[in-house]
Amino acid sequence: MNDPIPFLDLVSPHRELEPELMAIMQSALRSAGFIGGSMLQEFERNFAEFIGAAECIGVSNGTDALRFALIAAGVKPGDAVLTVANSFIATAEAITQAGAVPEFIEVDEDTYNMCPHSLRTYLEECPLDVDTGMRLGRRTGMPITAVLPVHLFGQMADMDAIEEIAQDFHLELIEDACQAHGAEYFSERQNRWRKAGSIGRAAAFSFYPGKNLGACGDAGAVTTSDPRIARDIRRLRDHGSATKYYHEVIGFNGRLDSIQAGFLDVKLKHLPRWNEMRRSAAARYQAMFETVRGVITPFEPVQSKAVYHLYVVRLSERNVVQERLAAAGIGTGIHYPVPIHLQKAYAELGYRKGDLPITESFASDILSLPMFPEISARQQQRVVERVAEITECIPRSDIAANA
Ligand SMILES: *Cc1c(COP(=O)(O)O)cnc(C)c1O
Repeated sequence: MNDPIPFLDLVSPHRELEPELMAIMQSALRSAGFIGGSMLQEFERNFAEFIGAAECIGVSNGTDALRFALIAAGVKPGDAVLTVANSFIATAEAITQAGAVPEFIEVDEDTYNMCPHSLRTYLEECPLDVDTGMRLGRRTGMPITAVLPVHLFGQMADMDAIEEIAQDFHLELIEDACQAHGAEYFSERQNRWRKAGSIGRAAAFSFYPGKNLGACGDAGAVTTSDPRIARDIRRLRDHGSATKYYHEVIGFNGRLDSIQAGFLDVKLKHLPRWNEMRRSAAARYQAMFETVRGVITPFEPVQSKAVYHLYVVRLSERNVVQERLAAAGIGTGIHYPVPIHLQKAYAELGYRKGDLPITESFASDILSLPMFPEISARQQQRVVERVAEITECIPRSDIAANA
């Protein structure tokens, strides 16, 4: 029997970095520098520079990063925020935590990201509040104040188009870049490549261990080039205070630990290389799947450089394929089995099956294959051969019966 192939490998990169990470730990212990301080500032400076934003504010996790970004951008109770249902639930949770209500826009069938055409049509069909000039959410009747696209699986949404729509409808634009550290998009409007996290008023990153840049625990950050937003988020993450024990607003305990910031700074130096390795692995999968019928591989538009946080294919009889891959020692995932608008937690929004047909169509046939920087061509070959074997030997009648 061949060695198992994990869905992702968090052990070997840390083994390699152990001496550097232990040095961070030791320096924190010896100085008792656990909160704030130079390790945090150093990482914030380096991450902002990497993204191409003026500022980075380290926070407790990606969900808090989204929540703080929304609040600082002015989203408040009684607002509606447009986002997608094809994401991790935290995207919507952050909107709810800011006191607003999400309304979901349909996604593009090829990229799985927010469809700009659907976004514009949706807004045009929302009633206009003549007093304020704002659109009122079609489902909630609340003023739509922001749009929150997600750069899903490591590929950026169509930001030129979304940015233009946000301007046309006076919406704040916040990016969920939690899966897109280092992803790039060629902006025709600006005639240059732009990174995820450098376009909206603010952007949220997660450094959950499995992300392309992951901490050794929970961590996150907001990037922004608006000094007012940066100042507000620095206050929000620290009990609404800029000076200790003087609280200007009611905030949160949402800081990034110094040790995690130190770890992240060590790992940030490797991120460009890791992302390139993921891109090479994706190109290999793409070539290997060329001869396998019935498997839809990820689509990367010419204006996009994806960083493949996940490598998601679509195929029929997904559950059978997943079970048989597991039996062969190959780890996979499903991102995500239930779109947010159909989650029990959001039942009160009143969405029904059929409201977002494209979004809903993914749940039954998506499969995330093993993807991490160190995955070898041999391992990938085995994954592809297995998938080919399994899909070939599912009798055609089974597929038709379950379609
Ligand atoms: C991981 C993730 C989040 C939340 O980040 P946490 O650090 O786990 O809070 C939000 N949105 C997306 C798209 C994510 O993948």
